Amino acid sequence: MDEIRLKALAKINLGLDVTGCRPDGYHLVRMIMQTIHLFDSVQMAKTEKPGICLTTNMRFLPTDEHNLAYRAAKILMEEFHISQGIQIDIKKCIPVAAGMAGGSTDAAAVLYGVNQMYGLGLSPKQLAKRALTLGADVPYCLMRGTALAEGIGEKLTRLPSIPRCPVVIAKPGISVSTAWVYQNLVLDRKTVHPDIDRLLKDIRRRNLKRMASHMGNILEDVTVKEYPVITQIKEHLKGHGALNAMMSGSGPTVFALFGEREKAKQAADALRASGLARHIFVTTIFNV
Ligand code: ATP
Repeated sequence: MDEIRLKALAKINLGLDVTGCRPDGYHLVRMIMQTIHLFDSVQMAKTEKPGICLTTNMRFLPTDEHNLAYRAAKILMEEFHISQGIQIDIKKCIPVAAGMAGGSTDAAAVLYGVNQMYGLGLSPKQLAKRALTLGADVPYCLMRGTALAEGIGEKLTRLPSIPRCPVVIAKPGISVSTAWVYQNLVLDRKTVHPDIDRLLKDIRRRNLKRMASHMGNILEDVTVKEYPVITQIKEHLKGHGALNAMMSGSGPTVFALFGEREKAKQAADALRASGLARHIFVTTIFNV
């Protein structure tokens, strides 16, 4: 195989709780992860010239070791002494610094692609071990679907698929640093935690309405205090028929679940007209 084309899927968090902090600064989480049908296109090809050459349609993104996808190729090429080169072209569609694991999913696609193209024979478990060295979300991006992520995000438990409902994604014209959000999260007795166990029960029962009503993200308060537009977008989408709307990850992207595609489209059109969000997509849940 000399080349491969892959879809690097974005994720949303149906639930996100932080339960503590490790001495090394990593936060302990309980997150319900879900892939959606919004993706970057990652194309890879072998080249005679040694080295990694990465291009992307987003000019402001790094194309060297600062790009997580570049690092993903590098760790496998070094470990397996691959002397040929690789060309990686990433057509980004997932908003950047948006709480949708854009960089992590590109890295996961490259790990998967290099393993396939060069016939390295790494099992999903072996690939996940290498993925974790790149970032806490990368193993999940390899797994995809609905999953509970614990530990620092690397302990993954596959969950039953949720109903394949329409989803509206809305990102306001601001970018949020994940590190800043975690630094500003206060965990004390007054902190209200989302009920992840309840959400798990709803998912196992495949009850979309109840599941939507029990979604929660502990990071939302931190980001919303700085960027109230997130609340405005949530309220707008709920007012236009969403079952519920919530911030994904550390934000600022908001996602909303809908019962019907037509309602989702109408809500997205109304949001476009409001000018509250810069990037708006109508998509669906992606199940494996
Ligand atoms: P998460 O949800 O995992 O916190 P995110 O969606 O908030 O991630 P990313 O889109 O991954 O954030 O971008 C975070 C930073 O990573 C950006 O500032 C960007 O410069 C850098 N980055 C490195 N590689 C990539 C890539 N392939 N795609 C997007 N961003 C990348």
